[in-house]
Amino acid sequence: MRKYQDIRSYDIDELRGLMTGLGEKPFKAGQLYEWLHKKQASSYEEMTNLSKALRERLQEEYPLWKMEAVQVQTSRIDGTKKFLFRLRDGYVIESVWMRYQHGNSVCISSQVGCRMGCRFCASTIGGLTRNLEPAEMLEQIYGIRRLTGERISNVVVMGTGEPLDNYENLVRFIRLVSDEKGFGLSQRSVTVSTCGIVPGIYQLAQEHFSITLAISLHAPNDESRKRLMPVANRYTIGEIMEACRVYFKETGRRISFEYSLVAGENDGMSDAKELAELLKGHNCHVNLIPVNPVRERSFVQSDKKVVEKFKNKLEKYGINVTIRREMGRDIDGACGQLRRSYLDNLK
Ligand code: SAH
Repeated sequence: MRKYQDIRSYDIDELRGLMTGLGEKPFKAGQLYEWLHKKQASSYEEMTNLSKALRERLQEEYPLWKMEAVQVQTSRIDGTKKFLFRLRDGYVIESVWMRYQHGNSVCISSQVGCRMGCRFCASTIGGLTRNLEPAEMLEQIYGIRRLTGERISNVVVMGTGEPLDNYENLVRFIRLVSDEKGFGLSQRSVTVSTCGIVPGIYQLAQEHFSITLAISLHAPNDESRKRLMPVANRYTIGEIMEACRVYFKETGRRISFEYSLVAGENDGMSDAKELAELLKGHNCHVNLIPVNPVRERSFVQSDKKVVEKFKNKLEKYGINVTIRREMGRDIDGACGQLRRSYLDNLK
């Protein structure tokens, strides 16, 4: 069986090999690549500088496929759009488009489902179904571009799935999306969020990408973290912080820490103090996110005042911190919720 189902998962060198295999000149690969990634063609027919015979052959062997949006929800509050896309094999994933002052941002999924089991997260409820291949990550961006007609200036891998649990495909996706000959997104505009798979962080450091790495910390100590995130049983916060130090040393990129505030769980002033002491001296940024209530879970959002106090406490210690603006509150905002409610309705 071949490695990828979708021709857009292959890099240009591999396409050259493919062209030679089909008895074509290798330079045709450059033209094909441009059609696929720069112009995001949705059919081989459009590729008029390739011979008809070649186009037919490609269509037979690597049928081009467009992701179909089975559902689109638009927020009346802020225009955020949530897309439920159907994959080739019928599984569904969700992606989000958000308009910010500094440009439009797309949040993509990296897996169908997730096996990390974070207690507050809707994406993990049905477990992991399968990894997404690089083209399926790209096509979420290309699809949203096609459907909205909007420019996309940032991509965050913060949708369903644990990106470092799908490492090879993630790295290939980053290379493809940031290739100047293709979609050409600057790596500085890409953020990858992880629940803290330590070996993956070390490996990623060695790729020397200029992406932003975000760590979902959500607790200031292991005991509290274990109550929210099963992955905390495998890697300690100490190990994560050491990996982050190396990541920063290797890439020069400041780490982002995500901290979802859950009322009565991790939002106390003593938590803020402990977090501040943990992060002191690290070149980092903290994103506070009021936890998004998920129907299947009983966690409650921290009070607005508590969130402010938490922020102030961190600032007193000189830590860069922002409160994440909630987007799309009215449209199944939290990770995996749209997909979840779709799957529930099928039952
Ligand atoms: N698996 C990766 C990326 C996907 S989750 C990770 O863990 O980072 C993206 C972010 O949303 C993570 O910080 C995750 O912990 C957070 N998240 C998930 N469900 C949430 C919820 N209901 N409320 C607030 N944040 C949530």
